[in-house]
Amino acid sequence: MKLIPLPAFDDNYIWMLHDGQEAIVVDPGDAQPVLKALQHEGVQLKAILVTHHHTDHTGGVDSLRQTTGAQVYGPAHEPMPEPLKRLVEGDMVSVLGLAFRVLDVPGHTAGHIAYFCDSAALAGDPVLFCGDTLFSGGCGRLFEGTPAQMLASLERLSALPGSTRVCCAHEYTLGNLKFALEVDPDNPQLAAHRAHCLDLRAKGLATLPSTITLENQINPFLRSRHPCVMASARTFDAKGVSQTGVFATLRQWKNHYR
Ligand code: ZN
Ligand code: FE
Repeated sequence: MKLIPLPAFDDNYIWMLHDGQEAIVVDPGDAQPVLKALQHEGVQLKAILVTHHHTDHTGGVDSLRQTTGAQVYGPAHEPMPEPLKRLVEGDMVSVLGLAFRVLDVPGHTAGHIAYFCDSAALAGDPVLFCGDTLFSGGCGRLFEGTPAQMLASLERLSALPGSTRVCCAHEYTLGNLKFALEVDPDNPQLAAHRAHCLDLRAKGLATLPSTITLENQINPFLRSRHPCVMASARTFDAKGVSQTGVFATLRQWKNHYR
């Protein structure tokens, strides 16, 4: 199975997975990059998986469904372009001989879902499509959820197998790592990973997929119980930490960080 990030807009990725004949895509905010890739790869679109309702993830769904006849899957509790199969926690999506398990991961939006697959037919490490929940070195903004919800969602993702390929929907890595180094300055893996990502971006390559193991090492939003991260959050806003916890304070800090 081939896993490809298709760049869209300024910094979105539409993930494509195909077996040489049939393909799925995740969060097609724009149909054009998908149609181009289908042609280039010589594959047919069978299914569209959507993680949440934001337009940069759904804008291409209608036209792709109409031109390819692909089946659309998406969250049960969000406004979505109809018709689609609506999914809740624990549902399975079977496509391309793969089984994707649906995880409820509220926080960025109230009904956000993620898709996890560890089928043998992948012939590779497990894959997670996490939309705007987990980014490399960061996490989504809390538009509709509470810090407690987002933290619980991230902790579920963080507990997936370490080798899982983390397919995030945005190329935010370098910005996130700059913030992460501010919060967790003595983390040796962080500095090394930033150097690696600078190199990738200089070559015009994606910094994704990441892995769960790597994110657990470098992502401050998965490390809010580590002493160094806790101490930094207190430096930023000691009162905030006592009121809403380290995670909420980090998210607040990042919202205004440049
Ligand atoms: Zn979003
Ligand atoms: Fe987005």
